[in-house]
Amino acid sequence: MDVKIGRIVNVSTLEWPGLSSAVIYFGGCRYRCPFCYEKDILDPLTCKDYSVEDVFNQVMEQRQLIEAVTFDGGEATEQEEALIFLAKSFKEEGLKIKLNTNGENAGAVIKMATQNALDYLSLDIKAPLHRKNHYKKLLGGIDPEKVLTGIRQIFEVRPALKFFFECKTTFVPALLHEHDIVKIAQDIGRNCDRYLLQQLDASRAVVDPSVLEEVSSEEKLKEIAKKCKPYTKEIAIKTIDGVVESL
Ligand code: SF4
Repeated sequence: MDVKIGRIVNVSTLEWPGLSSAVIYFGGCRYRCPFCYEKDILDPLTCKDYSVEDVFNQVMEQRQLIEAVTFDGGEATEQEEALIFLAKSFKEEGLKIKLNTNGENAGAVIKMATQNALDYLSLDIKAPLHRKNHYKKLLGGIDPEKVLTGIRQIFEVRPALKFFFECKTTFVPALLHEHDIVKIAQDIGRNCDRYLLQQLDASRAVVDPSVLEEVSSEEKLKEIAKKCKPYTKEIAIKTIDGVVESL
């Protein structure tokens, strides 16, 4: 089986607090979020074909250095079969599994969780869930129905599944107001283990560079996070240097 891959990072300490992880960036995503840092791997046609065995072998060369594997992208769940195959294969080798996803393919998340191949789910919540037009803007003008339906399904099945469940939002001041973030915190409530508010990194290339004209300070991020705190189980911020701080 082949899989489109954007790149593979052999060892990273930025994905799992306290654990080192390989990060596999799957190629391809049907959305074009203006603030997406991965603009060069969104078109699957520009990404390299690997066999799943080659991906597995490359990661396993670093086995002594890693405790986990993170699937990122692009959107890894758009290549569901390869994703599940790899997640199960790494799990059998004793590695922990994290998935970063926009939520569009709840079926893939459920299969991974029920097949004991998911330890940590990090789900993007880009805008308040009941504001469809706003969500569409954050997805680059593409219909958000599939993503919103997937997110609803993940929340529905979550109580029956076992994994660490994080929801995260990148605060893009040009596209989101402070009250939008508080609304997201209210939407997700205590249904996830942690709500993570991420600082936008203006030093990186994104799909639409105009969104970088306005950035948020760490202090501002903390101020917003404190307003979210009463609605969440745990609230944390992640700054551009990768530091995660719970408030
Ligand atoms: S941030 Fe948006 S465009 Fe980028 S990979 Fe995620 S869903 Fe796709």
